Formats: sequence, structure tokens, C-alpha cells
Amino acid sequence: SSTIWVLGAGQLGAMLQTAGRPLNLDVRPVDIESASAPALQPDDLVTAEREQWPASIATDALAAHARFVNRDVFGLLADRKTQKSLIDELHLATAPWQAVEANTTEAALHTRLGERVLLKRRTGGYDGRGQHWLRQPQQDTIPSDWYGQAIAEQAIAFDEEVSLVGARDAQGNCVFYPLTLNLHVNGILLGSVAPLNRLAHLQAQAEHMLSALLNKLNYVGVMAMECFRTGDHLMINELAPRVHNSGHWTQAGASINQFELHLRGVSGLPLGSPVIKGTNVMVNLVGTEQQTAWLAVQGAEQIWYGKEVRPGRKVGHINFCGNSAGLKTSLSALQNHLPDNYADVIAWLTAQLD
Ligand code: ATP
Ligand code: MG
Ligand code: MG
Repeated sequence: SSTIWVLGAGQLGAMLQTAGRPLNLDVRPVDIESASAPALQPDDLVTAEREQWPASIATDALAAHARFVNRDVFGLLADRKTQKSLIDELHLATAPWQAVEANTTEAALHTRLGERVLLKRRTGGYDGRGQHWLRQPQQDTIPSDWYGQAIAEQAIAFDEEVSLVGARDAQGNCVFYPLTLNLHVNGILLGSVAPLNRLAHLQAQAEHMLSALLNKLNYVGVMAMECFRTGDHLMINELAPRVHNSGHWTQAGASINQFELHLRGVSGLPLGSPVIKGTNVMVNLVGTEQQTAWLAVQGAEQIWYGKEVRPGRKVGHINFCGNSAGLKTSLSALQNHLPDNYADVIAWLTAQLD
């Protein structure tokens, strides 16, 4: 039977491969730097774990394959300028923005967008990299090599950040997980909680927004939509045409996790409808060595990515699924075995569970 090749061999590719096994799907992540072309067959499928990739023998071969699912979506969403234009075109709420062109001035950006302006590189940014704040008018300046290469966004004074992970099949059917509440610190996701009763009234609004995008793009498989919540109003921050860190909790907390859901979508299997098993907490492990003690914490489901540990680098995550009381006990036990800077993260997660 056919193989599903994944462009990229990071943790997302590895977790897609793991999810393929029980479905009897042969999923093979491909390193973007690989100097040899994968043995692609005509009826194989190609998907991706990242929105952008450098040219290489392997990536050129994968991207040229006739059955590269969502081929045209990657370029469109990998560039923030075309991504934000698409969101505007569909009249969906997003932070007011403009492109930073050769003749753009700081003063013009402040006039149009306000005192606090966030510049984002059009391509290549992740975990908050590729961002530059203009906070002090007349003082902060556009980096010289960002002209033509960035967009400028109004700073949003949001209450919190949520995301919606969902999937569409080739017939246009969509399924969604409940909204996830996310904690980002310095642009990097550190923890998630889902589902939360207090967010349930926003579910339809979020699904309406992501459905419009999925349908417009004729998209197949999993996409994630990061949002800012201000009161009862959602605003799209950014889109990811792939499985997403804020959906990792579904590995412990849903009958069909996001990796399986994506594989079902791209391979034309029934999407099904994920049954949520309890309240879920995901703790991202960032720049920290693996600790055996984590495994002794009640309910902890650790996924270690096997990458070299570097400051600010996502190297694993721990999922918990249960009830509020049990989760709180586990989080407090886990905190004893995490670096000091996690105290705030654990406190934040715990506060969501009342
Ligand atoms: P990811 O790792 O999710 O791909 P990224 O580097 O692509 O992240 P964004 O998601 O655009 O970057 O921004 C990272 C974080 O910066 C957001 O989660 C949010 O906390 C903050 N942020 C982004 N845009 C704004 C904005 N317009 N106003 C205020 N804060 C913002
Ligand atoms: Mg991003
Ligand atoms: Mg983001």
C-alpha cells in the first residue's frame, strides 16, 4: 500500500509517524537536509510538518510530487503578508496591520497602528523569533534589513490566547477540538489547558472563522488557528497549516489525536469525531534536561523529542488528562522537578482548573 511522506523530520513528523502505526499507515518523515531523494511512488501521499522549507534534493522531490496535499497553501500561509491578506479578504478579525515596504516610516506605522507596534518577519519566524517591537515612538526603529521583509501589527491588549485545531476532509466535512487556552511567554508556548467551560461560548465563533479559511483554501487535514481573546471577541493571530503544539494535549485527551486526525484527512479515511476524555493540561519542556522523576508523577504522559537541549528550544512535553483536583495535585508534584522558571507556568495552569 502507499506511503505517506512527511516533509520534515522534527517532533511533529515523529508524532505523525507514531499515530500512523495503529491505522496501518506507513508514515515516513524526511529530513529537509537529506541529500538523497526519497523513493516516491506515484500513489504515495506527501504532507508536511512545517510551513516552509529550504530547497534540497529531498524537499524538491517531495514538493514536486503530484499528490502533495495542500501544495498551494504552504507558500500562501508561510508569508505573513499573504496570510494576513487572506484573513482580511474573508472579513475575519485580525490585528490591524500593514506591510513594511521600502518607503515605510516608523512615524507612519505609529500613526496608523498606534503607539505599540510589533514588526514580524514575513517568513521564517517561530517561537517568537523574527519579531521586533516599536514601543517608543521617535526612538525605536525598523531594522535596516526588514524593509520589504516584514509586516507591522498593532499591539493587541488581549485578555488571553486561545487556539482552535480542526480538520477538513476532501468532501468539505470539518471537525474541531474544543478551544485550547495557551500560555505564551516571550513568544514561546509553555502550557495549554483544554477544554474549559468558560470558553465554550466562543467555540462556534472560532469554528466559523476556521471553517471559512479551510473551505476557502479547499484544505485537507489539520490546521491550527491561534487567536487573541478580548472579552467575547476573537481575533486571529496566525494560522499553521499543520499539526500544532497547542493540540498536543489530544494525545492523552482525545479518542482521535490531532496527528491521527491529520493522517485520516490526508489519506481520505473517515475523520470521525474525537471524544474528549477529561480536562487536559500540556506542559512544554523548553531548554531543560530530561528528568526521570517526571515519570513518577501521577498521570504524566511524557513525550521526549530526542533533540539536543538548548536554551529556548522545545525538547518535549508532558500531557495530563483527568479532573481538576487530580490535575492540580499532579502539577504541584511536577513543579518540584522542573526548573524554577516553571513556577509561574504551573501557577497559571493551576489557576485555570478551578
Ligand atoms: P509560533 O511559535 O506560534 O509559530 P510565532 O513566532 O510565529 O509563534 P506569533 O504567534 O505571531 O509568532 O507571535 C508570538 C506571540 O507574540 C503570540 O503568541 C503573542 O503572545 C505575541 N503577539 C503576537 N502578535 C501580537 C500582537 N499583535 N499584539 C500583542 N502580542 C502579540
Ligand atoms: Mg508562527
Ligand atoms: Mg504563534
